[in-house]
Amino acid sequence: MTGEPKINHASSDSATMLEKMEILDVEKVINEFEAMTKDAENVQRETLKKILEENGSAEYLQNLGLHGRTDPESFKACVPLVTHQDLEPFIQRIADGPPASILTGKPITNISLSSGTTQGKPKFVPFNDELMETTLQIFRTSYAFRNTEFPIKNGKALQFIYSSKPSRTKGGLFAGTATTNVFRNSQFKNAMKAMQSQCCSPDEVIFAPDFHQSLYCHLLCGLIFREEIQSVSSTFAHSIVHSFRTFEQVWEELCADIRQGVLSSRITFSSVRSAMAKLLKPNPELADLIHRKCSGLSNWYGLIPELFPNVKYIYGIMTGSMEHYLKKLRHYAGDVPLLSADYGSSEGWIGANINPKVPPESTTYAVLPNIGYFEFIPLKVNAEEQVQDKVDASFISMEPKPVGLTEVKVGEEYEVIVTSVAGLYRYRLGDVVKVMGFHNSTPELKFVCRRNLMLTVNIDKNTEKDLQLAVEEAAKLIAEEKLEVIDFSSHVDLWTEPGHYVIFWEISGEVRDQVLEECCNCLDRSFVDAGYVSSRKVNAIGPLELRVLRRGTFHKILDHYLGLGAAVSQFKTPRCVGPTNHKVLQILCDNVAKSYFSTAF
Ligand code: AMP
Repeated sequence: MTGEPKINHASSDSATMLEKMEILDVEKVINEFEAMTKDAENVQRETLKKILEENGSAEYLQNLGLHGRTDPESFKACVPLVTHQDLEPFIQRIADGPPASILTGKPITNISLSSGTTQGKPKFVPFNDELMETTLQIFRTSYAFRNTEFPIKNGKALQFIYSSKPSRTKGGLFAGTATTNVFRNSQFKNAMKAMQSQCCSPDEVIFAPDFHQSLYCHLLCGLIFREEIQSVSSTFAHSIVHSFRTFEQVWEELCADIRQGVLSSRITFSSVRSAMAKLLKPNPELADLIHRKCSGLSNWYGLIPELFPNVKYIYGIMTGSMEHYLKKLRHYAGDVPLLSADYGSSEGWIGANINPKVPPESTTYAVLPNIGYFEFIPLKVNAEEQVQDKVDASFISMEPKPVGLTEVKVGEEYEVIVTSVAGLYRYRLGDVVKVMGFHNSTPELKFVCRRNLMLTVNIDKNTEKDLQLAVEEAAKLIAEEKLEVIDFSSHVDLWTEPGHYVIFWEISGEVRDQVLEECCNCLDRSFVDAGYVSSRKVNAIGPLELRVLRRGTFHKILDHYLGLGAAVSQFKTPRCVGPTNHKVLQILCDNVAKSYFSTAF
């Protein structure tokens, strides 16, 4: 490829026709979405019926006594709520082969590896054509709404997307991260073309065996096509921030490559080198321009629009554990809007962001009622009741009954249960969401946190969200010194008596001890959960400990997960590291530069 083939708009009528046909009919997508969400309850019934009819012959469903019934009432009566652990033996048999109808009617052909940041090791989940179709439907839906507010021209997208190390299961099934399964699918490229969002990098870069080389080339491709770039994206915001932090390190090398038209020797894979050779030509003017622009920036503020003058927005999942990266992302973005991408998981998609103008902190996701069958376990929001729950263990086992998609209530929090098109039935996803409103009759959900990610010593209960808020508060103290928390994690140390919370911080520079002592106290005070505060007051929980890490520690953690087969596109820093996640805990503990204990109580 000497540059991607340029579409000549005036070349011929038929070419223009073809081009028009290829572009997604945004109005049609929105109309279909509107119609479907007005009738969410029926669409849910129909979706469940379709899933059960298509998979009724699967061994799992056969054994549950449905006898061909497909109505929600029979389904709920016969099929138990399950976790990944319950389904693991079934999924393992699918992975081990031979092909059989175990969870789905048609045998599963691909396995997705979920990011595994929660459990410490990737989980296997089934992936099939039907799941691919729902993925594209989500992409189309949010694109249709996005493009109405932020229209893009037929340019290119700088997408920091990567493939995981491809592998085969014992039974010969392809195993990769869910995003890898999506990017490998032939339909993905066509869909991106239809959404005018074709990746500016060649496939060899996306599928390069080494993520560092892939990232360098993504940046280089972005610069080569800088005028055409309409959007900058990745699956998760973490990866976008990581990319531009890397840019800060390698920008002069990138300029040198562009100046000479010769790729840096750091790129060693011949497939990548030859793909890049087709794009890279000596261009001293471009190199000078980028050099000038970068040199003119103050602390890299507004880097993205400086590099890509026609960028319309930055796109990626920015809610939940990604919120921490928003500050840095805004710094790079200057006045370019940040738009959060959709809500889903390797197990299946849930909702689309149909209000792209809303800032990421307030983004909600409208559930698509035809991409799965959804149920919701009501959770209590009242802190006192939560404390009571902990004390009264028998109460905990009496979990409230799940309600249907259209039965959820505004303002309440729920755990999400998914019945997917890929063989998961009444599967507890482990995510907590809050219903913020309804779009027609489908709920708009705000992502709250992972349910099992919890700091707890005794009656205290602090979620990932509580941790994020505490870190945000304490980080203000170092922001006064123009420093930032690059990344953070936590752990409950029960080796000490009493147990205590440990917060790990990687900071962008040196901070005085006195300031870090204040940060530590501020963290301790910021956990306002009634159980925590009362336990701290009577020393039933020990003083919070802030451990400051050496620079690069979170890179080591990322590399560790990549080594396990994860892909950067799907990476989420583990916010709470459990005692069984030995390796990550070891990386954290081996890299502590300083540690402080709170004197707040
Ligand atoms: P994975 O299984 O690696 O695909 O990760 C899926 C998990 O990522 C979900 O269960 C959520 O916890 C989280 N996630 C996905 N989409 C979002 C989103 N839009 N906002 C917040 N968290 C998300």
